[in-house]
Amino acid sequence: MDFSLNDEQKMMIDTLRRFIAEELHPLEDELEDQGFLAREKAMAVFEKSRELGLYALNMPAELGGGGLSVLDRIICEEQFGHTSDYLIRRAFGNVYEPLLECKGAQVDRWLKPTVAGARTCSIAITESGAGSDAAGIKTNARKTESGWVLNGSKCFISDGEWSDFFLVSAKTGEKEISMFMVDKGLPGFEIGKDQKMMGLRGTPHLELFFDDVVLEDESLLGAQGQGFKLAMGALNVVRLAQVGARAVGKASHVLELMLDYVNERKQFGQKIGDFQMVQQQIADSVIEVNAARWMVYQAAWMLDQGFDAREQIAMVKVLAAETLGKVVDRAVQLFGGMGFCKELPIERYYRDARVYRIFDGTSEIHRTVVARTAMKKGAVLFDVHR
Ligand SMILES: Cc1cc2nc3c(=O)[nH]c(=O)nc-3n(C[C@H](O)[C@H](O)[C@H](O)COP(=O)(O)OP(=O)(O)OC[C@H]3O[C@@H](n4cnc5c(N)ncnc54)[C@H](O)[C@@H]3O)c2cc1C
Repeated sequence: MDFSLNDEQKMMIDTLRRFIAEELHPLEDELEDQGFLAREKAMAVFEKSRELGLYALNMPAELGGGGLSVLDRIICEEQFGHTSDYLIRRAFGNVYEPLLECKGAQVDRWLKPTVAGARTCSIAITESGAGSDAAGIKTNARKTESGWVLNGSKCFISDGEWSDFFLVSAKTGEKEISMFMVDKGLPGFEIGKDQKMMGLRGTPHLELFFDDVVLEDESLLGAQGQGFKLAMGALNVVRLAQVGARAVGKASHVLELMLDYVNERKQFGQKIGDFQMVQQQIADSVIEVNAARWMVYQAAWMLDQGFDAREQIAMVKVLAAETLGKVVDRAVQLFGGMGFCKELPIERYYRDARVYRIFDGTSEIHRTVVARTAMKKGAVLFDVHR
């Protein structure tokens, strides 16, 4: 088993660290204070990132993406975690894996422009009555001679304001869910309010309403009835990358700030890092971040080997999200009053971290998956008998 990073991986990390430090960190305070970034600035970030080949790293090279393995993507996503959600979206894109199901004319209409950054999309699954129970949606699409008619609503749709089309899950039969690509601006498609959140400043989270929206046949993504599988499959990789790896990146970033602070801040004539109770909080954070990181990498490696990593990803989701929460809570404590004060980014990281235990499946749902699998297959989910 080789745990070392190769030269390309190290170079990728260096490039991303430099890009994030030079181009994105300077924009974070403005984004936080205003709650938005001027469009020219957001576009400049996108252009610079694209020039460096950092946009849509998760997509195949033949489509113009980064062509990375899952592990390499995860290593990049960990670095993305060092900046804010909105800036990640603008700089590195939000190109969801189900789009790879595009066939024929769909490729030029939706897939390729999205990989190039000319179009942007959001994934719309959650409804006011169906969150954890993603199969309990009410949104439905009725087949007509020339296509479909979509009715229903969605909520909490991240980045919806920026997106010009949406991957929408809808019932196409009693027990059948399909996925549709729905362009903004179609008659009957209304955008509702931006649902203000505790954190993730700058990223809008929108309500969507569909009232007899007429869709062409071409809007169906993948096969009819495959929508739930597509959504769940996509969310598996997405939660490993955008939740697991980014949570580890965020926790590492906070940990770096904590280490600088406890080495500098003096009380009772000595640096606070010399106090054992402070050291315990540092040690626990280092141990937990490193444990979560290796678990993220292992799940990525499994996906690259073609293994089914659902249970590993469920474990990663819980561990990484909860590690981030613990580390950032300790950071607030160790920064003292400054940890609570808006003059430093710590309080913002604390607020941003909370949602990691909620979105892309709550900790409770993932614990249920882990427990059920352990009861069926045994507690060691990765061993020689697998
Ligand atoms: C910032 C943010 C961004 C989001 N972005 C998107 C997006 O882009 N697209 C999208 O489709 N959705 C998005 N969501 C929705 C998100 O995925 C859901 O909020 C999440 O899946 C939880 O669903 P819910 O809010 O309906 O909570 P519920 O499902 O109502 O859960 C409420 C509580 O009950 C618990 N619970 C529910 N079922 C069980 C069970 N079987 N066993 C034990 N406990 C259970 C949950 O763990 C939770 O604690 C976003 C949400 C947020 C907050």
